[in-house]
Amino acid sequence: MTALTDLSLAAMQAGLRARDVSARELVLAHIAAMEAARPLNAFITETPELALEAADAADRALAAGTAPPLAGIPLGIKDLFATAGVRTTAASRILGDFRPPYESTVTARLRAAGAAVLGKLNLDEFAMGSSNETSAFGPVVSPWRRAGSDAALVPGGSSGGSSAAVAARLVAGATGTDTGGSIRQPAAFTGVVGLKPTYGRCSRFGIIAFASSLDQAGVFARTVRDCAILLEAIAGFDPRDSTSLDVPVPPYAARLSPDLRGRRVGIPVEYRAEGMDPALDRLWQAGADWLQAAGAEVVEVSLPHTPHALPTYYILAPAEASSNLARYDGVRYGARVVPEGGGLAEMYEATRAEGFGPEVRRRILIGTYVLSAGYYDAYYVKAQKVRALIARDFAAAFETCDLLLTPTAPTAAFPLGARREDPIAMYLNDVFTVPASLAGLPAISVPAGLDHEGLPLGLQLIGRPLDEQGVLDGAAALEEAAGFTAAPTRWW
Ligand code: GLN
Repeated sequence: MTALTDLSLAAMQAGLRARDVSARELVLAHIAAMEAARPLNAFITETPELALEAADAADRALAAGTAPPLAGIPLGIKDLFATAGVRTTAASRILGDFRPPYESTVTARLRAAGAAVLGKLNLDEFAMGSSNETSAFGPVVSPWRRAGSDAALVPGGSSGGSSAAVAARLVAGATGTDTGGSIRQPAAFTGVVGLKPTYGRCSRFGIIAFASSLDQAGVFARTVRDCAILLEAIAGFDPRDSTSLDVPVPPYAARLSPDLRGRRVGIPVEYRAEGMDPALDRLWQAGADWLQAAGAEVVEVSLPHTPHALPTYYILAPAEASSNLARYDGVRYGARVVPEGGGLAEMYEATRAEGFGPEVRRRILIGTYVLSAGYYDAYYVKAQKVRALIARDFAAAFETCDLLLTPTAPTAAFPLGARREDPIAMYLNDVFTVPASLAGLPAISVPAGLDHEGLPLGLQLIGRPLDEQGVLDGAAALEEAAGFTAAPTRWW
């Protein structure tokens, strides 16, 4: 018999509705898994009692035949989403013991859909990072290990708690946020599916801001269908987010189809980076063949401004972050440090120096610099113009194709600590994910194979604005052909 924690979210839904399993049993099995997995450090705050309350409500609704779609489904929430009355940290000391008086729209929708939330998942501080090592609560350890090695690996970032928890079967799915790749890259590192929707598709209300023109909520799960189910629950217009798109949300899961006849898939030639891992290159080619076998026509396309995407992102994202993080001043939220005899300015300085970790401070410094009077035109304005060119490249490519296929990240997961001292090497992780973020496009990472050391590798599909359905369909075709069934061997 399959363990309850190994079931897909869709199978859990079916099992609950058939009354093969109660929501309480299902949630208890996941709570036990969560507690046994503390060595992974995936959760910052565990909320088993809230999960059980939701489970009992789900069991009553299931018995009455009134259960909402996610009744009793065990989920985790990235600790960047404000949750009413439940500590919300953004993995930063500066928020201290902040308990928001309000709930983010995304989590409110998941709760209204009946989900049983097991807790708040670890992340890079303020979602700045690619390895989950900048968290003030310590790094998340990937459930995966290289064949024959017990060296600890990173789960990717910034949503590393989300990816690790889904991969380790602690939850059926999780929320994430993706500003430059923080859903897709950790999904690739841990062998799960991660979907970043179109900018504006899911509300940002109640998500702690990093770079507001790029931040987008999305989902992790172990199958493409499960991601479709979760997206349907969280997507949709929200008047409380001024950039939220007022367009209908299709029934993604009901329409999901791996049949790609009549669709064209573009392979962007500029993504063929020098020195790419040969296994990754082969997998990319295999992905193109799989999509062709599913009926798609595969063509080469050009996105000429791709080489400028990473530097553009690392100007714009810190610029927006420096402005968004100005609100943490020791007055309104969390931690406050007042030095002996100090006044207001000294309090600001001491609070921010103590409250923010080194990566966040680096971003604030870069952001403040590129926005300062003498450099604004040279950096910030220039980067905005390049961003427009990158978006234009995609628009041109989508005149000849419907989807783009690329690798998700240039390598498989690396060991904890390996890149901590080298921010540039760390930033290079995002080379394949950042362009779609700058253009606001929907994109997904699908586990597609293993490298020579037995670690997962992901392929990315990027779609037209609001074509999450197309992205999910392409992902379903990749998933079916790849037949990825590998799972981490439990060592914790
Ligand atoms: N790794 C990227 C960064 O550090 C992306 C982070 C994200 O998407 N939140 O900015």
